[in-house]
Amino acid sequence: MRLYNTLTRRKEEFVPREEGKISFYICGPTVYNHIHIGNARTFLSFDVIRRYLEFSGYEVTFVQNITDVDDKIINRANEEGRSASAVAQEYADAFIEVMRALGVKDPTIRPRATEEIPAMIELINCLVEGGHAYEVEGDVYFSVRSFPDYGRLSGRDIEQMQSGARVEIDQRKHDPLDFALWKAAKPGEPSWSSPWSQGRPGWHIECSAMSGRYLGSPFDIHAGGDDLVFPHHENERAQSEACHHTTFAQYWLHGGMLTIDREKMSKSEGNFLLLKDVLEHVRPQALRLLMLQTHYRSPFDYSVERLAEAAAALDRIEGATRNLSWFLETAASDTASAGVGGAALLAQITATRAQFSASMDDDFNAAGAVAAVFELVTAGNASVAGGITDEEHKQAITEALATIIELLSVLGVAIGTEGADAAEPLPAGLVPLAAALANYAGDIPAEAVDLLLEARACARAQKDWALADAVRDGLAQLGFTIEDTASGTRVVRK
Ligand code: AMP
Ligand code: ZN
Repeated sequence: MRLYNTLTRRKEEFVPREEGKISFYICGPTVYNHIHIGNARTFLSFDVIRRYLEFSGYEVTFVQNITDVDDKIINRANEEGRSASAVAQEYADAFIEVMRALGVKDPTIRPRATEEIPAMIELINCLVEGGHAYEVEGDVYFSVRSFPDYGRLSGRDIEQMQSGARVEIDQRKHDPLDFALWKAAKPGEPSWSSPWSQGRPGWHIECSAMSGRYLGSPFDIHAGGDDLVFPHHENERAQSEACHHTTFAQYWLHGGMLTIDREKMSKSEGNFLLLKDVLEHVRPQALRLLMLQTHYRSPFDYSVERLAEAAAALDRIEGATRNLSWFLETAASDTASAGVGGAALLAQITATRAQFSASMDDDFNAAGAVAAVFELVTAGNASVAGGITDEEHKQAITEALATIIELLSVLGVAIGTEGADAAEPLPAGLVPLAAALANYAGDIPAEAVDLLLEARACARAQKDWALADAVRDGLAQLGFTIEDTASGTRVVRK
């Protein structure tokens, strides 16, 4: 498996520190608002990567924090006249709910900043004692120049940064590049006692403390959107390595930004779509398929047209799984004549699995993996076009169906063999139709369909075209067409 490491700027062979195990940290949201689909893209990309690592046999400890104390949360709380913790609680709950709705797996551990203050104080202490941080009037700052490797992750030269730094309003810092580890609280702000002041932690120190506490040092993979490389990840790395004198994260993975009209989607720009709103009219599988089409490191320009294409692709997959299941259910058990369908389909299954893994092993090329599944979808449909020929063919179709479902689930796209049609109940209007045309006396729409198809078959056998047409037209009015196939007759939604 090869993955692109931001730290070295190249694709590297992935070797976890402990065989079979992976420690994985991803920066979580700051909970002052609902997340937008840009945030969702990053979380989804790394959910797919985590799922694939698990599918590949690794035991993954996946840690994602929640930033529940921050200026933005405090500002929102003040605007709304409630406490910062009430604001954070509301949006943390909403975040967890909408992640689950999108099919993102829960992390193994989900620490919250406000519950991890002792670990942060300990880390800041370590930095102060080691000469990497200093206190000024209750605030504590990291001394950037005390960490000679500063700038390596983001590829920045410290001297250039220095000359580009704006004149600092805050004269208390020894150097304009220094950043806050601890901030003395203003009246009314949430605060904790510390050796320096009643105050609260800076943002960067949170992730250093939480990743260190739950994953140790070093750990394997650190992930986030590429907008976090500087300053957030550069600072996390400096803090942790300055204290622990060891590598912080072995591999740094960064996801590209979701854009809209080529502009980064962001709360401050106001060009955002909330994930919860999008999921009100789009199935999560369609949104996932859409995002999987673009490599996770590349920018991705969102549009409703592309979303509609992804929804259509999902329909195609579900149509195929329904189709294959239907042929399997109706296949006669005594299928005799020897066919070649089975062998060809088995070969495609092998090819699809190989292409799926090769794509994902190459820096998580999910688009290649999806394309491999589509080849199997096409081959499966083609294979049953003439009905099921023999037992081997039937087994191959069973396996093709299972493979499509399994590989898509590795990408977090849940497909049932029933698909969307099954989720949507059959219309009640089928019952009176069957009562009128097929003497149906019950009240179950699924039974009504079967009887209507039987009645049509009898009518055709007896050349009663009027009745056969009445069944067809009645079903059409309810949104169905009748399909005569090699294995029998069925209704499908138009
Ligand atoms: P934030 O709550 O702003 O810290 O963002 C949470 C996560 O979403 C971080 O990993 C960011 O990198 C990521 N993120 C923010 N905006 C976008 C965007 N437009 N596209 C992709 N990821 C984003
Ligand atoms: Zn972080």
